[in-house]
Amino acid sequence: MSKSKLQFKTEIQQLLDLMIHSVYSNGEIFVRELVANAADAIDKARFLSVTQPDAARDWEIRISADKEAKTLTISDNGIGMTRDELIKNIGTIAYSGTKAFIEAVNKAKEEGKEAPPELIGQFGIGFYSAFIAADKVLVETRKSGTEEAWRWESDGKSDFTVSDGHRDDQGTTVTLFLKEDFQEYMDYWRISSVIRKYSDYIAYPIRMKHTVKDGDKEKEEDSTLNTMKAIWLRPESEVKEEEYESFYQHISQDYGKPARRINYSAEGTSEFKALLFFASRMPFQFRFGEKNKKGVHLYVKRVFITDECPGLLPEYMGFVSGVVDSSDLPLNISREMLQNNPMVARINKALTGRILSELAKMLESEREKFETFYKEFGRMLKEGIHLDWANREKLQDLLLFQTMNNPAGKLVTLKEYVDAMPSSQKAIYYISGDSREALEQSPQLEMLRKQNFDVLFLLDPVDEFVFGEMGKYAEKDLLSVSKGDVKFDDATQKELEEKTKKAAEEGKDLLECLKKALEDKVKEVRFSARLTESPCCLVSDEHDPTMNMQRILKAMDQNAPALKRILELNAENALIQGLKKLCEKDPGSEKVKEYAEMLYDQALIAEGGDLPDPVRFAKRTAALMADAINLNLSEK
Ligand code: ADP
Repeated sequence: MSKSKLQFKTEIQQLLDLMIHSVYSNGEIFVRELVANAADAIDKARFLSVTQPDAARDWEIRISADKEAKTLTISDNGIGMTRDELIKNIGTIAYSGTKAFIEAVNKAKEEGKEAPPELIGQFGIGFYSAFIAADKVLVETRKSGTEEAWRWESDGKSDFTVSDGHRDDQGTTVTLFLKEDFQEYMDYWRISSVIRKYSDYIAYPIRMKHTVKDGDKEKEEDSTLNTMKAIWLRPESEVKEEEYESFYQHISQDYGKPARRINYSAEGTSEFKALLFFASRMPFQFRFGEKNKKGVHLYVKRVFITDECPGLLPEYMGFVSGVVDSSDLPLNISREMLQNNPMVARINKALTGRILSELAKMLESEREKFETFYKEFGRMLKEGIHLDWANREKLQDLLLFQTMNNPAGKLVTLKEYVDAMPSSQKAIYYISGDSREALEQSPQLEMLRKQNFDVLFLLDPVDEFVFGEMGKYAEKDLLSVSKGDVKFDDATQKELEEKTKKAAEEGKDLLECLKKALEDKVKEVRFSARLTESPCCLVSDEHDPTMNMQRILKAMDQNAPALKRILELNAENALIQGLKKLCEKDPGSEKVKEYAEMLYDQALIAEGGDLPDPVRFAKRTAALMADAINLNLSEK
């Protein structure tokens, strides 16, 4: 086939532009990226060779330098690429993160900072990092099981060419024509130290030839640069923390430190080893709605099987990455067979239990670290409450909330909330909304505050759904303070019930008047046990969703019907008492209707809700103020 010239996809062009022009403080990462690609390619070929033994080889990654041509070559005998794959994989398919990557880099630039180099790995754009070091890159590749080889060439500007290539065996060779300031990478010692730093655990030998002095003469030696030890099989005491970290970075697409590490070894009925890490921050691709499918890599007796094994861990545990190496699964297991495999289910159960107990430990002994983790991944744990019934109780114990009686920002667990409850408090109270500041002002909290009961602030939109599913915690009801009846201890409850009953009898006319005036706005008007200061508040009926929930459902575009709520009045408030007198004297007056509507509007304002007609409200308030001022003047 003749030579074809193809355009890079726009996002990739922009990306390349950044690679070429940005100066990265640790430019050496291009070696790590290309070696990782080579190792992945061998992983894939090795998996095939399990089912097709004649595909087996002496796997190796070979690095060589040509000082005359000023090139560095990284070659593997892995899976290789067909012509189509070559064009797609490096040139025309931009990963969803590419655009976001460019935005992130540009943002950093605007702020006058250097683009953090770790961004490169996080977005799965590793290959293009070649252009950090080279002004021209040449790829020759031959797909396993095929006879043709292909050659890809580009200077990283706007296009690349694909033509016939040459390779004796399957695999891929990447040749970098090094830029002036990257010529040090032709040096054996330089390469060797970069490999030790980032790629020591790679399971295949990374070899490079170099000359050594032998007396007066020089001779060529072929050395393996990495130790190749499967880090998850080595005793924990022999592995340095930096080695674990570098392995974590390789496997997780996160270039920070993990929040926690788990070394797990199961013996007996099922034998497997696992090395798992908790991420300390949300990987970028998650922010674009992707799930962490590649979190845990499955190996069988050190042979890589897949990095997408559904069922190996619960899906909500997307914050976990690492390796599981099983001795029981057959080597030639197909990906389809892994689904619903009882052995995989057993591993899942064991690891899930361990992960949850590690989280509990972290909460107990490393609170600050856990809170940071929770801020990133709390949503996933909440998803777990929804999905993982068997572990619901353990997950509930990991939830954190702000509360009314604690300072802003302080987080408490449900257990801590319950432990601090006064003996007269029987239920767990919560209120939901989108800001602490707004919730703190809610009239619904008044009586609870007076009773010295604490109230959980549910600030994450999913919290209320989660509570709805839980129903109870530690056998205590989870009650919304903006809904149904509030329940206090027996003595207080009795006292308050009597009070509201009496108020209802005495204020019959008022209730009638208001009901009539607000007929199309509220479901009911009644006296309240919730209020001590404010004149009124709005609450939802026992089995209706709260206002916050209605708002969320609406935002999710569900055709949630707007449900009428109940207007509750504070019998002891001066405004209510005045209104009561007015209703007794002149129930049919126009003023009553107007005041009733203003009262309703005030209740909406108190909960930070939007008024249906703010202009009318402002006009009415202005008129009232004018009346009050005139009255005041005439009295003087
Ligand atoms: P990532 O490795 O994160 O997927 P890259 O930009 O590094 O992203 O590579 C893009 C794709 O090109 C890889 O997913 C792989 O399919 C292919 N590729 C890159 N290097 C090799 C290689 N040495 N052998 C085979 N395929 C490769």
